[in-house]
Amino acid sequence: MPIRPILEYPHIALRQKAKKVRKIDRSTLVLADDLIDTLYDAGGVGLAANQIGVLRRVIAIQLPEEEPRVYVNPEITYREGERDVEEGCLSVPGYHAIVTRAILIKAKGLDRQSKLVRLRAEGLLAQVLEHEIDHLNGILYLDHLESHQDLIPNQTSSVEVEGIGV
Ligand code: ZN
Repeated sequence: MPIRPILEYPHIALRQKAKKVRKIDRSTLVLADDLIDTLYDAGGVGLAANQIGVLRRVIAIQLPEEEPRVYVNPEITYREGERDVEEGCLSVPGYHAIVTRAILIKAKGLDRQSKLVRLRAEGLLAQVLEHEIDHLNGILYLDHLESHQDLIPNQTSSVEVEGIGV
């Protein structure tokens, strides 16, 4: 499975809205595999198709100690509460910031078999779903900051801010 280059800010594909997948066919499954492999190679927790230049609504999520997940046409249907979390993005290397995200979300999407999946998520999974679905809508976590001056450079000498490289 090929590892695809991850596009970086300010690439135009990161600002475009991805199109709904009408039918999960072979090309969708190849895209899903490429997302998983590219995400694994990058050591992140989530990746959206826009980040490899494909404007289709597909995301991959790799939580620590879990099997990779793929969601097609994912949508957030409910958000509850607010919390401040540390967040980074594979398309904005070298930085992270504190972003306000929901405490609890509900989401739905299709799995590889075109089966409807409904999720209730908190913690990292909720954060990653919000971040990746933002990508499908051309939104970056930078857009949730008051100013780019709120970006914090990653320290190369300390522990990598992993788990938030989404
Ligand atoms: Zn990202």
